[in-house]
Amino acid sequence: MAIESVHPATGEVIGRFDETAPDAVAAAASACAEAQRAWAEQGFPERARPLRAAARILRDEREALARRMALEMGKPLAQGVAEVEKCAWACEYYADEAARFLAPEPVATDASKSYVCYEPLGVVLAVMPWNFPFWQVFRFAAPALMAGNGALLKHASNVSGCALAIEDVFRRAGLPEGLFRTLLIGSSAVGDLIDRPEVAAVTLTGSTPAGRSVAARAGAALKKTVLELGGSDAYLILADADLPTAVETCVASRLVNGGQSCIAAKRFVVPESLRAECERLFVERAGARRVGDPLEPGVEVGPMARRDLRDEVHAQVERSVARGARRLLGGELPPGPGAFYPPTVLSDVRPGMPAYEEEVFGPVAALIFVRDEEEAIRVANDSPFGLGAAVFTRDVARGEQIAALRLRAGSCFVNALVRSDPRLPFGGIKESGYGRELGPFGLREFVNVKTVYVK
Ligand code: NAP
Repeated sequence: MAIESVHPATGEVIGRFDETAPDAVAAAASACAEAQRAWAEQGFPERARPLRAAARILRDEREALARRMALEMGKPLAQGVAEVEKCAWACEYYADEAARFLAPEPVATDASKSYVCYEPLGVVLAVMPWNFPFWQVFRFAAPALMAGNGALLKHASNVSGCALAIEDVFRRAGLPEGLFRTLLIGSSAVGDLIDRPEVAAVTLTGSTPAGRSVAARAGAALKKTVLELGGSDAYLILADADLPTAVETCVASRLVNGGQSCIAAKRFVVPESLRAECERLFVERAGARRVGDPLEPGVEVGPMARRDLRDEVHAQVERSVARGARRLLGGELPPGPGAFYPPTVLSDVRPGMPAYEEEVFGPVAALIFVRDEEEAIRVANDSPFGLGAAVFTRDVARGEQIAALRLRAGSCFVNALVRSDPRLPFGGIKESGYGRELGPFGLREFVNVKTVYVK
């Protein structure tokens, strides 16, 4: 069966790909396992070489790769170029740091010698989403490969061209044949793949329902999982914040990637005293963003990735409005082809509304007004998710205290938008998942932490 790629700005089919047949999936899994056994014998300098070469290829070809993303999922070109550059950074970061992060650690005991060392788990299956088609894959693959693992990629079905391009980058970078393989399969084929004996562990970045399903199957097979799932995190604007700067940052965070980012700010919690100015600024800043063809230079917000996802976001907006939210900007389905949705601002968002309780994966800002700081913190934590929260205040020490001690999320930023960085661990709690990517923690997710004790 063919898998299609559709350009979300026009609705045109731009690519057809043959699904990987079951016998080819089995052959790829077995070849990956064989390649991994040899790879695990290599030292860090040998593993680093193809990673550095991949970084060079990514930098050299960033425009072409960004164009592929724009065509398949609507990301504006400049954002795509930045994404590809970040992938190159991750490859170099792990090429530089893996030996240090995975060095054996001596532990003083009654033994003559005891220590902890790290060895690869084997083949890791990665189930990945379309929203950052390159970054999501590289932030898993660079540490997993440097740790000595092999990788099988099942990418989101709407970005098969990106998935094959990633495999091609690794092949041209000189990674051993078979060590990183893209499989073009649907989500219904994932369960059987998890059960395959070659697969040692699974990492999934995607929605909470997909995470539940994959974790259940991997749990039954007793295979380790890392889950990077959805988010509906809060950005708190405190009464003393520099409001124009805070709102500018909030709007940037809400609209990056067309609002389709797990860590995009989704709920904005603001004191009643700032209501009028805050609403005005949100409408002004969100309304000023240039929406359009992702291939056109200067466009800041492209179409959403798929029309069905756009319609789902619109339904969440409509249900929120039906339950009392006020539409300050956008919120109407535009005519014409494609999957466009306008930057939208909803005010008076409350419990019981989708914009409060669910992840809204599109360019929709939900303003929630509260009496005081305590209520703001309570509202921020009143979510099934816990991925990336932020607090804006001129009192930086107070902001840090709230971020470090009060907000329940995997990352909490002060006076800045939440973003991933190869050096900093990234991941969630509650329904946002478990495990960590990036930094030293990301490197140690897919290893056997081995104790060696010599009497
Ligand atoms: P999705 O529908 O869950 O899909 C993600 C991947 O999982 C795709 O490859 C998909 O394959 C596959 N999949 C879906 N259901 C599955 C199932 N039951 N069993 C096995 N595989 C399954 O998510 P998405 O729409 O691509 O991405 C958006 C979601 O990802 C949002 O919720 C977002 O917050 C989350 N996300 C989280 C992070 C993070 O780091 N925490 C980062 C980015 C995105 P098909 O495409 O073939 O269906």
